[in-house]
Amino acid sequence: MDHNATTPVRAEVFEAMKPLLTDHWGNPSSVHWIGREAKDFLDEARSQVAAFMGADPSEIVFTSCGSESDNLAIKGIATQYGKRGKHIITTTVEHPAVFETCRHLESVGYAVTYVPVDTAGMVDMDEYRKSFRDDTVLVSVMMANNETGNIFPVKDMAAYAKERRVLFHTDAVQAAGKIHLNVRDLGVDLLTISGHKIYAPKGVGALYVRKGVKIANLIHGGHQEDGRRAGTENVAGIVALGKACELAEGEIDQLAPRLFGLRNKLEKGILERFDEVKLNGHPTSRVPNTSNISFFYVEGESILLDLDLEGVAASSGSACSSESSAPSPVLTAMCVPPEQSRGALRFSLGRENTVEDVDYVLEVLPPIIERLRSLSPLYRRKKAG
Ligand code: PLP
Repeated sequence: MDHNATTPVRAEVFEAMKPLLTDHWGNPSSVHWIGREAKDFLDEARSQVAAFMGADPSEIVFTSCGSESDNLAIKGIATQYGKRGKHIITTTVEHPAVFETCRHLESVGYAVTYVPVDTAGMVDMDEYRKSFRDDTVLVSVMMANNETGNIFPVKDMAAYAKERRVLFHTDAVQAAGKIHLNVRDLGVDLLTISGHKIYAPKGVGALYVRKGVKIANLIHGGHQEDGRRAGTENVAGIVALGKACELAEGEIDQLAPRLFGLRNKLEKGILERFDEVKLNGHPTSRVPNTSNISFFYVEGESILLDLDLEGVAASSGSACSSESSAPSPVLTAMCVPPEQSRGALRFSLGRENTVEDVDYVLEVLPPIIERLRSLSPLYRRKKAG
């Protein structure tokens, strides 16, 4: 139940990529037949990824991961259009791949406005509109938040950016495969996805760059990816990503409602079974698989360890920050008080989860919470009245 951290590689995806590691091992830049064969696979994957998000294949740049795509989008635009202006708008709840990239740009002379969110983790649209300046060159706002699952009003936000003639990037890593994505409908200029969140392997990602938008490249070298990202392509990984995109699009209309049902059963089960628990995030505008719940008077980390002993994998924040014991920056940005964020647990379901899994969590969780709370003097005092 930690699919927002990563997902297993689907059997069909593994089958699709295998021949690229064995029989078709060419370099797609080579002119001979071995290279041309690899190039054909590359082209097909590019079309699959483009179809997944309603783009043209020429608008897809393959990268090594979601973080690289975010870096390429933000630094690439900031560098390319730096003469036009040096101001960027983002939010206070972005993934570190966006947040730290913005922090870096601040250290080299760019100005960044971090638009705040409310206590449900939704962006403040008035503050957003107010944050635009004459020198704003880029907005980067995630499509779905990795910790709460909140879905942001990207279409409206991109429309406003367009009115202001500002380019718009969205990190759709946690939205891909969970809700439909269409770059034309959304009106975005750049969009990030990552392979390992949609049942392809780690080490591959993609960035959509709308035709006509120029980006400075981060990796200099050969002319791969139309000069936008040098380096011999990870053809097997890219073929896997293409297949994963095709499969995701084919099953999303069945999978999303199924995950929604399972997630709601889990969420309702927890909120009904326990006192002193609270949902973190928006009650409805959320991807169907994610639930972030705080258990007061206990540490999220302690619940995780006990769940782990019962064979349940969950998370107390994003995998990228869960090694630090500091409260989650996302929950802090939502003004969640420390006593609430300390006991936060994130469940993120995936396509192999079953109703039995949910029942199992609902069975093993109560004794864990009871035991941990029995160790809390604060909780005991509260219970004693
Ligand atoms: N953006 C979001 C919203 C994420 O959740 C993640 C990973 O958790 C990333 C970007 C980074 O993706 P990757 O792990 O492929 O670098």
